[in-house]
Parts: sequence; structure tokens; C-alpha cells
Amino acid sequence: MNWSRTGLRRFQGQLLGWFRRCQRDLPWRHTRDPYRIWLSEIMLQQTRVTAVMPYYRRFLARFPSVRALARAPTEEVLKLWAGLGYYSRARNLHRAAKEIVARHSGRFPRELEAALSLPGIGRYTAAAVLSIAYGEPHAALDGNVARVLARLFAVRGDLRAPRRWAQLQSAAQKLVAPYAPGDCNQAMMELGASVCTPRSPRCVECPVSRWCRAYQLGLVEALPAARRKRPKVKLTLAAAVLLDSRQRTLLIRPSKPDSDRGSGALFSRMWQFPAAIVKRHAQKELARHLQASLGFRGGFEGGEADGKGFVSLPPARHAVTFREISLAPFLVRVDRLPEVVGAKTPFLAELDRVPISSATRKIAAAALRSLPGS
Ligand code: SF4
Repeated sequence: MNWSRTGLRRFQGQLLGWFRRCQRDLPWRHTRDPYRIWLSEIMLQQTRVTAVMPYYRRFLARFPSVRALARAPTEEVLKLWAGLGYYSRARNLHRAAKEIVARHSGRFPRELEAALSLPGIGRYTAAAVLSIAYGEPHAALDGNVARVLARLFAVRGDLRAPRRWAQLQSAAQKLVAPYAPGDCNQAMMELGASVCTPRSPRCVECPVSRWCRAYQLGLVEALPAARRKRPKVKLTLAAAVLLDSRQRTLLIRPSKPDSDRGSGALFSRMWQFPAAIVKRHAQKELARHLQASLGFRGGFEGGEADGKGFVSLPPARHAVTFREISLAPFLVRVDRLPEVVGAKTPFLAELDRVPISSATRKIAAAALRSLPGS
């Protein structure tokens, strides 16, 4: 980047003027409270603004401050997060809130190093919070901003390659106006989200088109270079809704992400029905899994797993990052639920009181619909 000082000032003025006129009215743009800005940044990771809004409002109504969040039981935090996905974000947010109370007197730290030492806070989030809340001059570089920069400076190649990313970081830093770093960062994010979009950017409406190399060179559609996508992995997950005569069911929570034949990772270690990744004979394989993991003997005859008594429920689809999951749920009536250390046995109709993922919610809904009188 070899712009003159005047060119840089004009660019910043143009970008900031556009942002102040055209920015979307979002709840986290009405505050300088670092807690609220931090929360919005964490919720917005991998998640659309429209999906975040109701969660953001509910979360703040229940936890209006870092201290309120730090005091809450993890279960309650996860429950308010349920449905938003990527639950490690909620766990890290909660852990970080406790650290902020313990080590920073309940105030989000102002220094970059201290912010970076908190769980779940990377360079982008730290820069966004510090610049918006405290006016610290740190550039926030995420995928959206990187795309804008790649077009502005006609950067070719994989933007995530470490050297190229470092160059983008340095370019982003030069563009940040020291008198308004928070607005500069938000303006770049807004430009990426609403004008300089991944496909069909609206260059004729772009406030900074006169500085854009890709626009001048006719390379807008070609930049940035497409990243090679991780191939999709398809798998089938069979889940057992064990149900006793009082309509209580069994929920477990795998202690390690990779336990329970991988289903722990798929459910983000939230409460879930016992489940197993299966290959060809879902019922039999699930019956074997229930015996091995819970000592449950249903679905066995003559010492062989047959899955008899497992009533198939309508399948559902679920996607987690690169995994496409076919959910194969089964309703299994039992006289008594197996006794499992650390398990929960809530009423099937009352699972909304427990932190569960949206996949578990889909399975529970299918089970409820199958019951007589529903
Ligand atoms: Fe993006 Fe087009 Fe603006 Fe360049 S001119 S920054 S490609 S919207």
C-alpha cells in the first residue's frame, strides 16, 4: 500500500462519512459498553445478524453485566445459547467473564495482551472490542474485511496463507484512522457485509470505488481467489429416545468431544439422547452401542442385537461445519430407564428446560409427534 497521506485521509473521510450515513441500525451499535460489544462479536462469529438479534436481547435481559454472567451456572448460559450453535463460544464467554471478574475487577481489559489472554478471544475480537469500546487503534481483520482489502489492493492468492494474512493485517492497520478506530473497523465490516459482498459486489454504490484496484482492473469477480473447500463428510447418527411409562426420557452428556463414537462432538457436549454414528444397520448398531455404553439390554434377542422394539421416527437432516448428518431417531419404550451416572431423566415434553442442541430438539420433536394424542 503506497498511498499518499492525503489519499489516505480522503479514503478514511469517505469511508467514515458513508458509514455514518448508511450503517444498519443494530442494537450493539448504540453502546460503548465493552461487555455488550464483546457479546455481539462472539455471537456474530459464523452466525447471521438476523439470527443473533433475539439471542443478543434475551442474553442481555438475563445477564446485563459481566458480573451477572460470571455468577450464572454454566447450564443456564448454555440454555440461553441453545439453537445458536458453536457452543464452545458460550463456554468460553462464561469462562472469560469469570476471569474478568477475578483478574480485572469486572471490567473488560483495555490492553491488547490482556484481552488476548482471555478464553475465546482472538486477535480480531480483541481489536474489535478495544477499538469500538475504548477507541484503541487496533485494526480488526476478519474474512469480510480481508475480502474488501483483497479487492482494494488487488491481492491475489489464498488470503489465509500466513504471509498474505500478515500483509492484510498491516494494510488494515494503515487504513484505521487514529481519531475513529472503532468506526473505521465497523465501516470496513459494514462495507464487506452490505456492498463488497462475496458475490456480485455493488461497485457502483461503493463509497471507495475510486481507490479500488480490482474495480479499475476489472478483477472484482476474480478476487479474492476461491479457497479450496473442505469436502463434505456425510454420516448417519442413530439416536435412541428411551421413554418410560411416565414419559421420562434419558439424556446424557459426553464428557469428551470425541467420546460416544463421535456424537459428543456433533452435539457440542450439550445434553443429548444416547446416540452413535452408524454404518448400515442403524437399529442393530444402536442396540449394540446402548448395551456397551449404558448396559441397556433392549433390542437384543438370543444374545444378538436385532433392534426389535426400536420404533423408527422420521429422519431429519442436520449440518455441522463440514459434516452433513442424517439423523435416524428411534423411540424405545422401556419399563425403567437405565441408571446412568451423571445422566438426566426429564419429561420428554419438558426438554426446553435443559440445554440441548438444535439436533436434539429436532429428535425430541419427532418423538413427541409420534406419541398418541399429540
Ligand atoms: Fe468492493 Fe467494488 Fe468497492 Fe472495490 S469497488 S471495494 S470491489 S464494492
